[in-house]
Amino acid sequence: MIAELICVGTELLMGQILNTNAHFIAKELAPSGIDMYHQVVVGDNPTRLSEAVQTALRRADVVLLSGGLGPTDDDLTKETVAEAMGKELVLFEDEWKKLISWFTSKGRTIAPNNKKQAMFPIDAIILPNPNGTAPGCIMEADGKAAILMPGPPRELQPMFLNHVMPYLLKRSGHRLYSREVRIFGMGESDVTYRLDDLIKHQTNPTIAPYAKTSEVTLRITARCQSDEEGEALVTPMIEAIRETLGDVVYDTDGHELSEVCHRALIASGKTLAVAESCTGGRLADAFINWPGSSAYLIEGDVTYSNDAKMRRLGVRKETLDTVGAVSEECAKEMAEGLRKAAGTDYALSTTGYAGPDGGEPGKPVGTVFIAFASEDKTVVKRLNLFGDRDRIRHSAMLNALDLLRRNICTK
Ligand code: AMP
Ligand code: MG
Repeated sequence: MIAELICVGTELLMGQILNTNAHFIAKELAPSGIDMYHQVVVGDNPTRLSEAVQTALRRADVVLLSGGLGPTDDDLTKETVAEAMGKELVLFEDEWKKLISWFTSKGRTIAPNNKKQAMFPIDAIILPNPNGTAPGCIMEADGKAAILMPGPPRELQPMFLNHVMPYLLKRSGHRLYSREVRIFGMGESDVTYRLDDLIKHQTNPTIAPYAKTSEVTLRITARCQSDEEGEALVTPMIEAIRETLGDVVYDTDGHELSEVCHRALIASGKTLAVAESCTGGRLADAFINWPGSSAYLIEGDVTYSNDAKMRRLGVRKETLDTVGAVSEECAKEMAEGLRKAAGTDYALSTTGYAGPDGGEPGKPVGTVFIAFASEDKTVVKRLNLFGDRDRIRHSAMLNALDLLRRNICTK
């Protein structure tokens, strides 16, 4: 099936706004097996829009349109497409009533020219728009379809995902099946560099990277006839990714790092306590977010001052006087001390400089020490993080989770 995209709006041609709708739709369409050979941008001009629509209807099966569904005179996408498809617009009473109540609920009065937003060809499929006034619609004629969507991205995106994509998949006879590979401890550029071969040769399934603060997710999407076929296509790709990237892959079913730790702790029946300095409770929060965490999380101590580190965790005064609170020794003593005091199987600790001020020679802002203690060992890790205070604290928390994961999860 061939799709063509027409983005309508003089502001796009003038460079006043970036055509993010084209980027969004192309990215979502890419794994679906629906081909897009042309994207057109055309201004708010009926003659040129009509030409663009007629050309697109000739060379594509489905024409996607964004923009020009508003109430004003220069919004003429619906009128132009209907004419090109030999259809007349009639008032949809239900849609008109919905529009009136939308305006009433916002305390605004409806203008007569809003009526055109409730006018569609009699046989159109209406696409609801909970985020704005202009509903989208699908017009079908002669085995072709035109799909009209509003311009604002916050209206177009949910409409595309919730209504248009299912319609396109049904029409093309394709299904999509996807799984998410979660990665911690390797940046997006490094991940894509190592997977270069797999990414270059991808056809079905496809690999799409998404980066979040300190994490990378790969969405693996297969075109298929059934979930079973999808799983069979996706699994070898996931295995190949795991083999290439190794143990930075912490999950292949879309679970978050904290959930992976949560599940592992529940399954093992072991207990945990966390001693936090720079993360200030975020680590405890990451566990307590999951219902059922009381099964293993015994306590979380925010020991921010040196005094609290000594009094609550038994960190030695000598350690603090010689190497300081931001040190390998202090992280080790925090985790070991709390493990003993709380009587848990495991303990985690964090201590570091979150900035923006502070740090010391050899330990700039972003230097964080984390430790994991169990009955048979203590592992300490030095992190050199970057970013603002929030990012450093978030990243320190994730690194502590990852340290736990690496020490308790069996492959
Ligand atoms: P329209 O429906 O044409 O009146 O567009 C309404 C608003 O949606 C415009 O003012 C833009 O802010 C936005 N918009 C329209 N088309 C696009 C596009 N292709 N990409 C991103 N934003 C758009
Ligand atoms: Mg416009």
